[in-house]
Amino acid sequence: MSDTGSVMPFFLSEVDNNADFCHRILFISIYGSSCNLFLFLCYTVSMKKVIVDIDNTLWDFASVLWERMRKINPGVPAPEEWTLFDFWRQYCSPREFYTIIKGIHCEQDRFNPYSDAKEFLASLSRLGFYIIIASHREKGTLEPTIKWLEKNDLIFHEVHLSHDKTVLFNDCWAVVDDSPFILDKALELQVLGAGLRVPWNKNGKYMLFDSLAEIYNFLNDKERAISTLTS
Ligand SMILES: [Mg+2]
Repeated sequence: MSDTGSVMPFFLSEVDNNADFCHRILFISIYGSSCNLFLFLCYTVSMKKVIVDIDNTLWDFASVLWERMRKINPGVPAPEEWTLFDFWRQYCSPREFYTIIKGIHCEQDRFNPYSDAKEFLASLSRLGFYIIIASHREKGTLEPTIKWLEKNDLIFHEVHLSHDKTVLFNDCWAVVDDSPFILDKALELQVLGAGLRVPWNKNGKYMLFDSLAEIYNFLNDKERAISTLTS
């Protein structure tokens, strides 16, 4: 848990699934006694989970990706023209593409988050949500990812890096992501979904917004509506 610097030490649990390179890390704060730990676990289990993507959700990944792809193929168009999620296949090989992606993720702490990312996550935390930062990333990128989150005071309770974040959808309340595939899957499973509006997701039936503040307002309104119905 990163939203309070006074919570130390933490318990670390890592599940490594070799089949899909899934690695998941769970931070559970320990307040000094098993009793408090039990109460803390009960509290976190009762919290509503929100899955928050990183790339093109918390920071401008596309601009850095474009810059690096152009070194391989100067003909790669600007992100404004990336109307297909897999546009890159026309311009470089999968090996080249995924090498670039991993390179960026390994240097994550060099890049700044969106200006409203910190407040977005802090606001969700203040509402009582359990925040799972989930990103499609390779092994070896966990440390720079956590370093970046902590360096930029981006509040989170759990980090999930894998090739398939939909495994988290069973018990989550909402997902914030730019991927049309992830947002479609959320729709299919009746999970509340929302994303920043980008060229590659603009044709979907899911909810899109122009800022993280708008996404927060949307989630807040939904949470209030549900709370009213159930109270
Ligand atoms: Mg993304």
